[in-house]
Amino acid sequence: MLKKRVVITGGAGFLGSHLCDKFLNEGMEVICIDNLLTGNLKNIEHLFGRDDFIFLQHDVTNYIYVPGKVDYILHFASPASPIDYLKLPIQTLKVGSLGTHKVLGLAKEKKAVFLLASTSEVYGDPEIHPQSEDYWGSVNPIGPRGVYDEAKRFAEALTMAYHRYHGLETRIVRIFNTFGPRMRIGDGRALPTFIVQALRNEDITVFGSGEQTRSFCYVEDQVEGIFKLLFSDENEPVNIGNPEEISINTLAGEILQLTGSKSKIVYKELPVDDPKVRQPDISKAKSLLNWEPKYSREMGLRITIDYFRKILSDKSLLTYR
Ligand code: UDP
Repeated sequence: MLKKRVVITGGAGFLGSHLCDKFLNEGMEVICIDNLLTGNLKNIEHLFGRDDFIFLQHDVTNYIYVPGKVDYILHFASPASPIDYLKLPIQTLKVGSLGTHKVLGLAKEKKAVFLLASTSEVYGDPEIHPQSEDYWGSVNPIGPRGVYDEAKRFAEALTMAYHRYHGLETRIVRIFNTFGPRMRIGDGRALPTFIVQALRNEDITVFGSGEQTRSFCYVEDQVEGIFKLLFSDENEPVNIGNPEEISINTLAGEILQLTGSKSKIVYKELPVDDPKVRQPDISKAKSLLNWEPKYSREMGLRITIDYFRKILSDKSLLTYR
């Protein structure tokens, strides 16, 4: 029997590369597309040479050509960390809008099932807590984060339009903070930044009072949730994340303890429009997909700390930013 073929845009990124691994492990052929703007070949170099893995360096805001059949498409291409989309605002808007349009066009042409990587950022600085899928969000369209939030909101609207107007099979996953190996050292998000600062005994930079909250999901749980969603028949958005909510101060304390670091916490200015709270309501994923996270934060943190320890101790890996 012919293998199922999966296209993963952003496949050289943090989540995308774990998805490449997952779909290959499930016996499918993977076509990974990435322009390497924030992705890194190191994330997928272990897959080169396999005959069931193809890498195309391409910017998906331009026409995408993929020969042969395609069964599933996962659209994960986008800068995804606040400092990345502050540095790359136009690219972030373009990949969420023009890029999503091109990838949906490919899905329509190939009659493939399309899954959009959306985000908890569509809820903005939320007025309801925890956030369930029927909440429409509180986003500042013209703030610095608006480039990501609005691009993803537009991408959701476009996905639903392709579903309703063209009858395309579509899925939308709203991804909450996720962490694990292959996050970039310089990606600027709190969790990898604190781990690297702790391992180097540098100051831990907490923004604002540190009382703002997030809920951190280990990457393997996230990938499993996305996989189950793809094979469900749910066209409307589904939150995937870990509902265990903690303050950023607590996160910093846990990382200090698990690394045994001598770093001190220093407080810096809070970025504009930084959400005060964030916690997924995962009732829908539980009932619909029979999914819930299995990794405790401590288990995930230990694996991630080991990963960064290795990267920092091996000079040849330090190009891996
Ligand atoms: N944050 C921090 N120190 C850092 C980076 C981030 O205190 O070095 C804060 C940030 O202001 C936010 C929280 O940690 O309140 C989570 O930020 P992150 O960039 O990880 O992602 P977000 O959840 O905001 O998208």
